[in-house]
Amino acid sequence: MKLGTISILGSTGSIGRQTLSVAEHLGVSVCALTANENVDRMEQQARAFRPKLCVMGSEEAAEELKKRLSDLPVKVMSGMEGLIAAATMEEAQVVITAVMGMVGLRPTLAAIAAKKRIGLANKETLVCAGELVMAAAENYGAEIVPVDSEHSAIFQCLMGCNDRREIKRLILTASGGPFYGKTFAELEGIKKEDAFRHPTWTMGQKITIDSATMMNKGLEVIEAMRLYHLPKAKVDVVVHPKSIIHSLVEFCDGAIMAQLGVPDMRIPIQLALTYPNRMPSPTEPLDLLSCGPLQFLPPDDVNFPCLRYAVEAAETGGTACAVLSGANEAAVDLFLRDQIGFNDIPRRVRRAMDTVPLVESPTLEDILEADRQARACVYDSKE
Ligand code: MG
Repeated sequence: MKLGTISILGSTGSIGRQTLSVAEHLGVSVCALTANENVDRMEQQARAFRPKLCVMGSEEAAEELKKRLSDLPVKVMSGMEGLIAAATMEEAQVVITAVMGMVGLRPTLAAIAAKKRIGLANKETLVCAGELVMAAAENYGAEIVPVDSEHSAIFQCLMGCNDRREIKRLILTASGGPFYGKTFAELEGIKKEDAFRHPTWTMGQKITIDSATMMNKGLEVIEAMRLYHLPKAKVDVVVHPKSIIHSLVEFCDGAIMAQLGVPDMRIPIQLALTYPNRMPSPTEPLDLLSCGPLQFLPPDDVNFPCLRYAVEAAETGGTACAVLSGANEAAVDLFLRDQIGFNDIPRRVRRAMDTVPLVESPTLEDILEADRQARACVYDSKE
C-alpha cells in the first residue's frame, strides 16, 4: 500500500501523540485529528500537521479551538458527529482509533463501513462489540490491524499463517503491573500514585490503572478471542515482567512463534500504517545481550479478580463484556477521583455483572444500553 493520508481519533493521548511522531517519521500526512478536551495540545498539533478537520469532545472546546485556529483553513467540529466525520474522511486510508473507552465504537463501525483500514488502539470496541465489529469488517472488506502491543505481536506471529486451525493457542504476555505478588488484602490501601509507577510501559491514566488491576489483560484476552475467532481455551496469559516478548502463538505442530522488541508503541503503530511492508523505525534496537534472563510466571486471578471476571464475561458472551467494560470505566474514573479504593474497582465491576440483565444476541443498541446501565450501577452504588 502506498502511504497517503491518515486520520487519528484521539490524537492528544499517548497513542495519538506517538502516531503523529510515526507519521512525521514516515512522511505521511494527516487529514483529521480528534481530541476530547485538550485544546492547547490540539492547537499545537493542528499547526504542526495541518489537518483539514479537527474535532473536540464538547461544543465549548470546539468553539475555543475554532477561535484559536481562525488563521488556518481547518474545519472544526465537535462530539460524535465530528468523530464519525473524522473516521470516514474521503482521503483517509488508515484510521487510527486511539480514543479511550466506549466512545470509540460508533466511529470505528463508521470507518469500517467506509472500507478504511483500522489501526485499532481502542480496546473497548472489540471488547464490547467484538462480534458486530468483526462481522462488519468482513462484510465491508475493511482490514483491522491491531495496535495494542500484544495483539500486534500475535498479528505478526500469524503473518504467513493461512489456516487458523493451525493455531493451538495464543499466549498473551502481561507485565503483571506494579503490584504482582501482593495479596488482595495488601492491595486494599493502594493509591493512584502507586499505580502510576508502571514497571515497563508509560501509558494513559485509565490503561495504567487497568494494568495495575489486571483488567487490562482481561480485556486483551477478550480482544484476542474476538480478533481471531477463538474460544477462551485457546487464549492463555503468562506474566513476563520485562515486557520484552510482546506475545506468542503456539501452533499445532508444537512450534511457538514470539515477537520481541523494546517496549515502544511506535513499532506496532508504524506496522499498522505500513503493513504488509516494514519500514526503518527510529526506535532503539533490542540488545539481546543486555536483556538478562527472561522470566515467565503464572497470572494471579485470585488476588487480581478483574482478570477472572473478564474471562467469565468473555465466556458468557452477549452483553456481558459491555457490562464488564462499562462498569470498569466508571469504577476507574471514581478511583482516579479518589472516591473509591483500589479493591472497590473489582467489587463494583462484580456488582454490575450481577445486576445488569444479560442480552444474549445483542444489537448495537443493546450493547450501548448495557454499557449505560453498568455505569449507572457503578456510580449509584453506595458502600
Ligand atoms: Mg497491551
